[in-house]
Amino acid sequence: MSNFDFDLFVIGGGSGGVRAARMAAAQGVKVGLAEEFRYGGTCVIRGCVPKKLLSYAADFSHVFDDAEGFGWSVGPRTFDWSKLIATKNKEIDRLEGIYGKLLGGAGVQTFDGRAVLTGANSVSVCGKELTAERILVATGGWPTKPDVPGADLAWTSNEALETPELPQRIAVYGGGYIAVEFASIFNGCGAETSLIYRGDKVLRGFDEDVRSFVTDEMAKKGMNMMLFETIEAITKQADGSLLMKLGSGCTQEVDAVMFATGRAPNTSDLGLDVAGVEIDRKGAIKVDEFSQTTQPSIYSVGDVTDRMALTPVAIHEAMAFLDTVYNGKPRGMDYADIPTAVFCHPNVSTVGYSEEQAREKFGEIDVYKSDFRAMKFTLTDNQERSFMKLIVDKASDKVVGAHMVGVYSAEIMQGVGIAIKAGATKAQFDSTVGIHPTSAEEFVTMRTPV
Ligand code: NDP
Repeated sequence: MSNFDFDLFVIGGGSGGVRAARMAAAQGVKVGLAEEFRYGGTCVIRGCVPKKLLSYAADFSHVFDDAEGFGWSVGPRTFDWSKLIATKNKEIDRLEGIYGKLLGGAGVQTFDGRAVLTGANSVSVCGKELTAERILVATGGWPTKPDVPGADLAWTSNEALETPELPQRIAVYGGGYIAVEFASIFNGCGAETSLIYRGDKVLRGFDEDVRSFVTDEMAKKGMNMMLFETIEAITKQADGSLLMKLGSGCTQEVDAVMFATGRAPNTSDLGLDVAGVEIDRKGAIKVDEFSQTTQPSIYSVGDVTDRMALTPVAIHEAMAFLDTVYNGKPRGMDYADIPTAVFCHPNVSTVGYSEEQAREKFGEIDVYKSDFRAMKFTLTDNQERSFMKLIVDKASDKVVGAHMVGVYSAEIMQGVGIAIKAGATKAQFDSTVGIHPTSAEEFVTMRTPV
């Protein structure tokens, strides 16, 4: 019998925290969990899920025109942003309820409040001092804004997901995942959208061909791609609109600005120093490969550790933590070949190495590319194109990278990810029979390296 109130106390009810809490409780561990806001965390409440719902809404914008090419007569259409936000909120409420039920059903005792570490084995929450043999910190991250005059006038993704009205003109600042996804949402839903980015093409870190292709396709969809540009100041005008002073010396008037300039780990005022938990220069909790912090009784998973800010990664880290601590199978998370998708329009998906990374890692590589107009658009005026790319290590013949921009790319890449994770060779890709006619079959029919 432990002398602690709990065997495990989890701080944070997001993807990583909830998974660890409910799976541990299900196997008999006495678990407490504190959440200061809403159960579900970034992914469910203000990230992946609401973003994807809005992204679906935006993607419908071209479907009505496309349908006419296939014989449909589509009448007048209108779009109601406030209705979308209301139905989105209802769905988020539903999902939050499921998260709560999962925790309750597993026997986790929940505390609706902010928990602060008060020692290596104690937390203070809801006016109570509680002890736990182990503590798991899974507090996630939060959007950051650069120090620009008037930055307080700009939204982050948090406000963008809640705004009851669609601005007529919006500027999205940044060129990462969140910037391109939200620019695509606003553009698809009918706002005049500018994407302002300091670099030459969006999605730094992705394959260079993918970056060029998606930057061009976003421009084709009507987004004003303002590259090599920065926002220097924002001021509010008498009519309520915002005036941006830009690095190029120009000014631009918009109705809203959204900053998507990165996220920071949620580590302030958590009592980490009191508990002996070290953080790095970016404020992320330092962990070893088993997600153990510098205080042995305290572990940490998810965005707050700044390893790879993806929901499925936080969940895998939580499962590895459970195996390590409660199942006698110490293991770290395997970060190799994690597939990921960016839900801009068109969608981008990727697994493994970019051409540039592969060249550096393997030296001799073969590169296969395909650029085509998806069959779905052939009877329409939609000029969207798709792009696919495979990177092969010449010495082993292994496919070490796959990339796609285009329709269904996120859905397609999951399967390709399994092949790459399993170490499939190009010869095995070639011997796989394609599903015809699909875009996906291109991945097994590219024969001539470029
Ligand atoms: P990112 O780090 O991906 O992008 C930040 C962007 O802001 C970059 O383009 C960066 O430019 C730019 N930037 C940073 N600082 C400044 C500054 N001071 N002035 C001007 N521009 C600046 O962050 P996000 O917030 O977009 O996303 C965070 C993470 O969340 C992602 O990395 C991803 O892991 C996760 N995520 C995943 C999603 C998915 O799976 N679909 C969706 C959304 C988020 P530069 O490139 O030049 O550095």
